[in-house]
Amino acid sequence: MRMIFIGPPGAGKGTQAARLVERYNIPHISTGDMFRAAVKAGTALGKKAQEYMSAGQLVPDEVTIGLVRERLTQSDCSDGFMLDGFPRTRPQAEALEIALEASHIQLDAVLVLEVADELIVSRIVGRRSDPETGEIYHLQFQPPPADIVSRLVHRKDDTEEACRSRLAAYHAQTAPIIPFYDDRNLVRRVDGVGELDNITDRITSALS
Ligand code: AMP
Repeated sequence: MRMIFIGPPGAGKGTQAARLVERYNIPHISTGDMFRAAVKAGTALGKKAQEYMSAGQLVPDEVTIGLVRERLTQSDCSDGFMLDGFPRTRPQAEALEIALEASHIQLDAVLVLEVADELIVSRIVGRRSDPETGEIYHLQFQPPPADIVSRLVHRKDDTEEACRSRLAAYHAQTAPIIPFYDDRNLVRRVDGVGELDNITDRITSALS
């Protein structure tokens, strides 16, 4: 399975992606995770990415495209992959198409997880992650066990202001790439509202 996972920030992509990569046994390539790892490690890439990320803006295309191109050449991608958070702009989609064509690789699906904006802001602002297990919680909708609350992390870009700016970036830059993949007959739209298990079922049937 070679797929792209698209959806607004806070649509639940991270949670669903973790389930899907296990089911299809493919690597989960999240550019957001790659940038966060670079920031944490204090690399040159991390320093560059951080200024954009904390403002809720997109990291420049040339930086992001190079990072993904290199990642896709690694051996664990030879039988499939899930791209999460990439491509996010038209130039990224075009660059990916060129890179895949050069390697004679075809995409199987572009999954679009749909959640209305009004729901997104409340989801994002209450989101917390557990650095020890990677588990994602929501203070109200999916409360964490009381004994781990103190170690949970609130992402810097999960504030309301950064969230609104990320949503604006999604609508301005990322949503317009969906027609690019519609033209290639790859898009599968899935309703991202409801119980986690139901959403996973909807996704797997859309992909089958
Ligand atoms: P995410 O975890 O996917 O929401 O990404 C967090 C942040 O990383 C975004 O708000 C951007 O600043 C940056 N980022 C992740 N993926 C990309 C991408 N494909 N293009 C540009 N910036 C990105």
